[in-house]
Amino acid sequence: MSNNVLRAIKGMNDILPGSVPRKDKLPDSGLWLWFENTVRSVLSRYGYQYLLTPTVEPTALFVRGLGEVTDIVEKEMYSWTDEMNGDRLTLRPEATAGIVRAMVEHNALYNGPLRLWTIGAMFRHERPQKGRYRQFHQLDVEALGFAGPDVDAELILMVRRLWQELGLVVGQHVRLELNSLGQPAERQTHREALIAYFEAHADQLDEDAKRRLHSNPLRILDTKNPAMQALVEAAPTLMDFLGGQSLAHFDAVKAVLDAAGLEYRVNTRLVRGMDYYNLTVFEWVTDQLGSQGTVCGGGRYDGLFEQLGGKPAPAVGFGLGIERLLLLIQELGLPVPDAAPDAYAVIAEPQALPRALLTIEALRAQGLAVQMHAGGGSMKAQFKKADASGARFALVFGGDELAQGMVALKPLRDGGGAQSLRPLADAAAWAQELRNA
Ligand code: ATP
Ligand code: MG
Repeated sequence: MSNNVLRAIKGMNDILPGSVPRKDKLPDSGLWLWFENTVRSVLSRYGYQYLLTPTVEPTALFVRGLGEVTDIVEKEMYSWTDEMNGDRLTLRPEATAGIVRAMVEHNALYNGPLRLWTIGAMFRHERPQKGRYRQFHQLDVEALGFAGPDVDAELILMVRRLWQELGLVVGQHVRLELNSLGQPAERQTHREALIAYFEAHADQLDEDAKRRLHSNPLRILDTKNPAMQALVEAAPTLMDFLGGQSLAHFDAVKAVLDAAGLEYRVNTRLVRGMDYYNLTVFEWVTDQLGSQGTVCGGGRYDGLFEQLGGKPAPAVGFGLGIERLLLLIQELGLPVPDAAPDAYAVIAEPQALPRALLTIEALRAQGLAVQMHAGGGSMKAQFKKADASGARFALVFGGDELAQGMVALKPLRDGGGAQSLRPLADAAAWAQELRNA
């Protein structure tokens, strides 16, 4: 490739159809569409409504929303000053803060709670590697204005349904980890115990941990540094500091999951990357993607509305990393419905085009996918394309057939078969035959 070709920014990927050969093994756009369709179908069954919020938000939203001493705010945000007016702006690193901002701005909970979802690009300045990119995409789901453990449990069961419909097996391909972060006062007591513990082992702390010891010691538990794992393992757990109400909320969530036969592991070290969480937190993890093992994470964040200047409102939600999930599905080789057309139209001579198109349009009106061969070429070349398209039939529009008011229908799969004629005039009548074959 010549030197003056412009390239995408490192860690930001093109998502392309499978017919485009590419060196990286990133999932193709067909997989994305199938995922999105499945999501739409599942979420609508639970009453979730779609929304879109801006990709760019005021920097202050994330500083206030996620917490100043978090990986995201400290080192992963794409932020800049708008040259026109001096505003500090940020490419959203996650979706929840923007959604809550929008709900506060539009007083959206005035008429009662809302169930919402969105899909979009998120941006984090991380070291790109498999399953970790600088632009990535999330499915984000939020249940706003609901205080009880019922919604927490429903959200988790909804993700299980999504896994089922995508072909992922819980326990084999993905596992659920669960924890409770209690309430701020309980975390405060735990925090003091944590600081005392880490101070007693100050010699084993890395630079990040030393810096966070007094600002945000809970974050130390989220460290990815292998040298600190043993220390973190033995630290006091928040679970031992939870009061009766927090424990009752947690028990109620677990009771539903137990009744639904959903296996989970209570992981008292699970803290999540943002400060806004309380009570229930959860992650769906896999062992198949190396250290990028979390495909979906979420929890309750009852304090965020107030923190962003709104009326207090309880809330719970999750974010699902689409690239990671599709990589997993691809690596497991799970069956994905193919997007091949029902039929491929071979146009044997240019004069056949107007009548061929009328017939093709009539088939499309019946809901069939018909790919038209464009650009002419020999019958042999056109049949080669027809085969490559994956279509089950070729429709051959040739002079002889057209003269009789007919089109030739030729099966392409399973070794093909003899071709037979169908009348051009009433394509609707034989459309059904193509669909069911
Ligand atoms: P990790 O611990 O892997 O950095 P996280 O806790 O920062 O993840 P969240 O903020 O909870 O991630 O985002 C929800 C999901 O989005 C993650 O579980 C993951 O699947 C996905 N995700 C997060 N960061 C990235 C990234 N840089 N590239 C691709 N997917 C990501
Ligand atoms: Mg992260």
